[in-house]
Amino acid sequence: MQGIKDKIQEIKSALPANVTLVAVSKTKPISDIQEAYNAGQRVFGENKIQEMVEKYDELPKDIQWHMIGHLQRNKVKYMAHFVDLIHGVDSFKTLKEIDKQAKKHDRVINCLLQAHIAEEDTKFGLSFNEIKSILASDEFKELSNVKIVGLMGMATFTDDKNQIQKEFSSLHSLYTGLAKHYTSFKILSMGMSRDYNLAIECGSNMVRIGSSIFGSRNYLT
Ligand SMILES: *Cc1c(COP(=O)(O)O)cnc(C)c1O
Repeated sequence: MQGIKDKIQEIKSALPANVTLVAVSKTKPISDIQEAYNAGQRVFGENKIQEMVEKYDELPKDIQWHMIGHLQRNKVKYMAHFVDLIHGVDSFKTLKEIDKQAKKHDRVINCLLQAHIAEEDTKFGLSFNEIKSILASDEFKELSNVKIVGLMGMATFTDDKNQIQKEFSSLHSLYTGLAKHYTSFKILSMGMSRDYNLAIECGSNMVRIGSSIFGSRNYLT
């Protein structure tokens, strides 16, 4: 069986140079993350704040921790001193809370606005119009401790490649349009184990890969 180290190397060597790999380590033990770290991986993604904090405390401090999950506002304070990038910002209220907590640590926290691109209503995210209106609002301009560096989206869970491609492409065109006006825009986070190649074809420059590196997750244990 291939180990974590081999999988990291295999995936990394096939990624275009401009694409950042976020190794999604949610539910996985410290030892798995350490193995990926030893293979040179430094960017890890978690979807629960508490779990990320515990892992941060135990692991080397040059790891860049990305919060990729839906955010509970009352828990933002626990990660404000170290989180490197927050992918799942889907309301202005959350952005305001991140700003408030970042200020306490004298930091500017990089964030992505999460767009709703999937057909399912279960996936969180903002409409394209909501994204534009947040960016254009005066309230947003007053926040000095958050920086929106791009967008994140998740495609519909389907085998229909055309559908996935349509969704990724629509987010890419929103991204490129906004990047002309907002010079802080650098990151388009799209693509997971099952669809990252397609996401890259559609313009993604950050992929979030879990099960293809660490194996499938067992939520029952
Ligand atoms: C779990 C998760 C991933 C990784 O999913 P895999 O299918 O295991 O690659 C990516 N993005 C988000 C937002 C996730 O919650």
